[in-house]
Amino acid sequence: MPRAIVIRTSESAAAGEPVNTAVLEEVGAPPASDGPVLVDVAWSDLNYKDALALTGRPGVVRTPPLVAGIDLVGTVAASEDVRWRPGDVVVLNGTGLSETRNGGLTEQARVSGDFLVRVPEALTPARAAALGTAGYTAALCVLRLERAGLTSSPEQPILVTGATGGVGSIAILLLSAAGHHVAALTGREQEYGDYLRALGATTVVPRAELLGTGRPLQSQRWSAVVDTVGGEVLANAISQTRYGGTVTACGLAGSAALPASMVPFILRAVTLAGVDSVSAPLADREAAWARLARDVDPDVLDGLTETVPLAEAIDAASRLLAGGAHGRIAVNVRG
Ligand code: NDP
Repeated sequence: MPRAIVIRTSESAAAGEPVNTAVLEEVGAPPASDGPVLVDVAWSDLNYKDALALTGRPGVVRTPPLVAGIDLVGTVAASEDVRWRPGDVVVLNGTGLSETRNGGLTEQARVSGDFLVRVPEALTPARAAALGTAGYTAALCVLRLERAGLTSSPEQPILVTGATGGVGSIAILLLSAAGHHVAALTGREQEYGDYLRALGATTVVPRAELLGTGRPLQSQRWSAVVDTVGGEVLANAISQTRYGGTVTACGLAGSAALPASMVPFILRAVTLAGVDSVSAPLADREAAWARLARDVDPDVLDGLTETVPLAEAIDAASRLLAGGAHGRIAVNVRG
């Protein structure tokens, strides 16, 4: 019987509120209604959203019980979709996995063929999972900035916030591989300053510099921004972006609020660009994975990745949410 981590709901005795719990259990074969492509899953991984789901936080898993895991990497075992054949090695990110559909923290899944991406030859399945939604989202952000015309200089580097996290770490790798000057914003500069410089950051900036309520127009420090934390950090980053620069916003690790001013948009022509990985079109997914395969150094990726077996994924999720992790956590679902 395949094993999976399933999110189940029960009533809290105290408050009468529904409570989510993650349970590792044996499950039957995935139902045919999940999709026409049967995948023998080999790897999944832990993103911020997975950490929320696995620690029972509400908001991610909307129709429990559901298998957790917003990513899966594996081999097609059978397919009623002519685009996919047994033996194809595929990656699937988002598309409602672990939100409204059974997800990837399982040994076998049935999925739609519409958003599957072939794992590029330069990547092993383990490395594709190490990149996961975090890497794919980082690539979407970088591609978005490039479409807007991306430049950088020592005086105006590209700011990456939440730098030690999954999205931040891979964004630094991609930007430095493209020859950019990168400033890494982190709350843990003492502990991880060397780590960030090894990824390619040219400057490490303490998070405190972008906290608090700043003036609407501040000195133009950044040529562009990849923001993963939101809140005051995002508001100040917008106010510090150069004339005509673009700020991609994909995350809210700090806050879902945006206490910002209109002034940078109307006096500095700054663009705020939202980035979504869950429902991104197939062409964007393929472009992002091609960029990851081309530009991420496999040895550097291995160095920032911790691997855990399925049985340890729930504990690892708690650690991630408590700020006790950095880089990426890949999950060997058959380990
Ligand atoms: P991680 O948990 O790996 O990293 C988040 C990082 O944010 C931390 O390492 C930390 O970096 C920083 N951080 C944590 N808490 C705070 C805080 N209170 N204030 C400011 N910074 C904080 O998460 P991911 O990189 O996987 O994801 C980052 C965000 O992006 C999440 O909100 C996630 O949901 C979102 N996301 C959105 C996607 C989309 O489709 N739009 C796809 C993927 C992720 P440091 O210590 O260096 O400051």
